Amino acid sequence: VTRVSVRLGRVRALMEDNQLDALLLAGGPNVRWLTGFTGSSGAVLVGRESASFITDFRYVEQAGEEIDSEFETVISDGPLRKSIAEKVSSSSVHQLGFDSEDLTVDSRDQLEDVLPEGVELVALKGVSSALRSVKDAAEISAIQTAAALADQVLMAVLETGLIGRTEVEVAIDLERRARDLGAEGMSFPSIVAAGPHGALPHAQPRQEVISSGQLVVIDWGVVVDGYCSDCTRTVAAGPVSDRAKEIYQVVQSAQQAGVRALRPGPTGREIDAVSRGLIEEAGFGEHFGHGLGHGVGLEIHESPTLGKTGDVALEEGMVVTVEPGIYLAGELGVRIEDLLVVTADGADAMTHLPLALIEVG
Ligand code: ZN
Ligand code: ZN
Repeated sequence: VTRVSVRLGRVRALMEDNQLDALLLAGGPNVRWLTGFTGSSGAVLVGRESASFITDFRYVEQAGEEIDSEFETVISDGPLRKSIAEKVSSSSVHQLGFDSEDLTVDSRDQLEDVLPEGVELVALKGVSSALRSVKDAAEISAIQTAAALADQVLMAVLETGLIGRTEVEVAIDLERRARDLGAEGMSFPSIVAAGPHGALPHAQPRQEVISSGQLVVIDWGVVVDGYCSDCTRTVAAGPVSDRAKEIYQVVQSAQQAGVRALRPGPTGREIDAVSRGLIEEAGFGEHFGHGLGHGVGLEIHESPTLGKTGDVALEEGMVVTVEPGIYLAGELGVRIEDLLVVTADGADAMTHLPLALIEVG
């Protein structure tokens, strides 16, 4: 049994549950997840018995190398939707499902225009991210490799110190070392935010020198085999105030409580509430303005959501972040983020950096 046939089996089970004759998957990460295709133009039409991969002439060679023999490759000589419609007409499809997060309203309408009479397009919201949320062993191993590489990158950067370097310099250093160690790239633009700038959860690195006494929020991730890692550490540049240490301690306790709550069963909202409760008790509830975490995989933000809207129950094999923070405008920010995989009775850390506050020169 190949990885592809297992994934196709999961797609077909989902089609069965939704009484679909076929399911269309578009969007790079979804197509890559199912077929292994890494190009940017491709769609997959999964039927009850057959599965087609549809791309255009630019990708003939790449498709030949990457696409599993479970798929018939169709090279479209026009818009992909025409070939999709032809495939649909030649099989007895009545209910054709698609992920409404995959297709724009325009492309959905254009597809409907070329589909044969009697085919009904059925929108399923987030169906592909749900499929991708539970990772198999190969995916977990790729993410573990990425997370270990990311750990190594940060430790190397911290060894050279933070004080006197600009946020931009530190961000570039992270990225250069990641590439040197074999990463395909970064999961997202790295965040390096010192002092009051750390109070912005999505701060961009500035040409500002990091000075002694500042907390520095560093949030970075690397890509290995298409899979992302995601991690945050808040580091002390030189000695910091007792207040900064106290706030750090609150975030660390909240982070560890969230991690301990991870296991199959609870929803993302319930896990979020565990960490959030501790931050609220400490009086900083209004300063934790984002969700506790998110799934990570081929994309940096995937299902499930650990937050107030997280109604998906955790399952074994999901890979999630736990990243509470406290942000005090004009003063400082603290965020601690680990990446973990949910196991049968808990979760295993993929990040192996110290959780306690690290002080560097
Ligand atoms: Zn992050
Ligand atoms: Zn994150």
